[in-house]
Amino acid sequence: ADNNEAADNEENKKPLLKLDELELDKIETSSDIEVPKRLIDQVIGQEHAVEVIKKAATQRRHVMMIGTPGTGKSMLAKAMAELLPKEDMQDILVYPNSDDSNTPIIRTVKAGRGKEIVSAHKIEARKRAQTRNTLIMILIFGIMGYAIITGQLLMGIIGAAFIFMALQYSRPKEEAMVPKLLVSNEKDSHAPYLDGTGSHAGALLGDVRHDPFQSGGLETPAHDRVEAGAIHKANKGVLFIDEINTLTPHSQQNLLTALQEGEFSITGQSERSSGAMVKTEPVPCRFVMIAAGNLDAMEGMHPALRSRIRGYGYEVYMQDTMPDTEENQKKFIMFVAQEIKNDNKIPPFDRGAIEEIMREARRRSNRKGHLTLKLRDMGGLIRVAGDMARQDGSEVTTTDHVLKAKSIARSVEDQISDEYTKRSREYELTVVSGAQIGRVNGLAVVGADSGQVLPIMAEVTPTQGATGNIVATGLLKEIAKESIINVSAIVKKFTGKDIKNMDIHIQFIGTYSGVEGDSASISVTTAVISAIEGIPVRQDVAMTGSLSVRGNVLPIGGVTYKIEAAAKAGIKTIIIPQSNLDDVLIEDRYKDLVEIIPVTKIEEVLEIALVPEKRDDFVEKLKNLAKLNPGELIEK
Ligand code: ADP
Repeated sequence: ADNNEAADNEENKKPLLKLDELELDKIETSSDIEVPKRLIDQVIGQEHAVEVIKKAATQRRHVMMIGTPGTGKSMLAKAMAELLPKEDMQDILVYPNSDDSNTPIIRTVKAGRGKEIVSAHKIEARKRAQTRNTLIMILIFGIMGYAIITGQLLMGIIGAAFIFMALQYSRPKEEAMVPKLLVSNEKDSHAPYLDGTGSHAGALLGDVRHDPFQSGGLETPAHDRVEAGAIHKANKGVLFIDEINTLTPHSQQNLLTALQEGEFSITGQSERSSGAMVKTEPVPCRFVMIAAGNLDAMEGMHPALRSRIRGYGYEVYMQDTMPDTEENQKKFIMFVAQEIKNDNKIPPFDRGAIEEIMREARRRSNRKGHLTLKLRDMGGLIRVAGDMARQDGSEVTTTDHVLKAKSIARSVEDQISDEYTKRSREYELTVVSGAQIGRVNGLAVVGADSGQVLPIMAEVTPTQGATGNIVATGLLKEIAKESIINVSAIVKKFTGKDIKNMDIHIQFIGTYSGVEGDSASISVTTAVISAIEGIPVRQDVAMTGSLSVRGNVLPIGGVTYKIEAAAKAGIKTIIIPQSNLDDVLIEDRYKDLVEIIPVTKIEEVLEIALVPEKRDDFVEKLKNLAKLNPGELIEK
């Protein structure tokens, strides 16, 4: 709280910096920065989605948002609720139905009126009960008095007891006439925002509670057991459902009905409960739906529901990164400031700390000249850094705190990968020195932000069948399999040997979650050529790169994480595609540990990776072969 006061005091001193004035050298700490009031103005990097949400809010349209978690989908949904008009908010009441007690009556009133009506009914009921009580007391005393005077004491007591019971029995009924407030809104608050993610049917569509005493004067009246669902609470507001495909088909079907009708009766959701006998009059649920998910969400989604949203709304794809322009840097600085302000507990960041966070955002974007928009994770890092500063009793968060936070706040994948590296070194699965025939240290990405050394082994045997086979093991997925086929074209070209008589076995080691892409192509090629030609491969070299069938080295993803993993494992030289050179944003502590060599052609890879003494003849041959263009080779 002290920090906030300090920040507030400073607020009074000098004007805060607005978005277009945000330049790093003007900022002392993040508390100099103005944070926009409206949530929609706090969203960064999703300009298209923001446009759509603004438009959808004025026209009350549904929106489907597809994209990576933590890029601002629920934030945008909340922002939309702020933008919706608040004049026409409603309260919803449920009344008993004296004609048919299993069909409670539904009434809507203006927001804020609901509470007044219910309390008025309660006062009324209490008053009526009081009057009757007084009347009954008079009766009882009358009878008792009469009995005492006439001496018929027994009759008197029986009469009094009878009247007392009548009182007890009739009281609950009086209270049972009081309506129940199903959905309540404050008069001046903005439109409701409800998150229905992962709700079961009852929470989403409303429910009627089970009544264990269904008669005998002890029963709870039906209308009192009715509970509103998220669709009703979101009436006139926004219903946000993330991972829409995880809702049961039954719920999705009902959601569709609710969307189409704009009202939905509440009934008991469990079939054998007494609640299932009760079905209210239709309850209004005119909500705007924001459905979200990642790309596979669309597959698991009820097709009619999706077409409803598409037909009556918008679909947006969320961005994962934004270009690292001056304008976007300003937005990013504002984001850092607003995360700090919204957290309310952490000390402001100084310029260096903000810069370090931006550096990390560049790194995590995994793309040259971009900043990541997976901002939930960035927010997490900001909070951990702030906590570090607080632990130190520091007034501001500095670069050091951010660096410490980075080494603590690591993803589970990254921690596992470290553990794996350690263990595989213990068992000598990772070889980082010497030379071996047919073995190459490849590099892979695990999860989203962690690299791993991925050894690849190749062995060549005379074939037993009519033609040679290429067999690759290690849980390869489609693209990885195809890359092996392409590799064989290059092997043919560079070894000049007919591989018809050979079986080539390629093994990816330690790939328990499978190999996805083709970024191991240069490693596989090197391993196979080494095995065929009998030339050893340097084990202090690791490599990553995709390959065209003509032998050009093509860009791959996650280069920074791969290099860091190799450095951690003790590798000295790392071969990467030339076109990925700008994506390399490794941390300073790794810079002196490794040499990074960018390449454009497979020949260069072989020249570096194959052991010099043994390869000279081969490399000579290779260079001659490489000079030929593919057409010539076929003619030969
Ligand atoms: P999603 O719903 O896409 O998983 P959220 O909207 O829940 O992500 O984002 C989580 C948090 O991350 C937000 O509360 C906000 O602090 C931050 N955040 C995410 N995306 C953005 C963005 N585009 N602009 C500003 N902050 C963001």
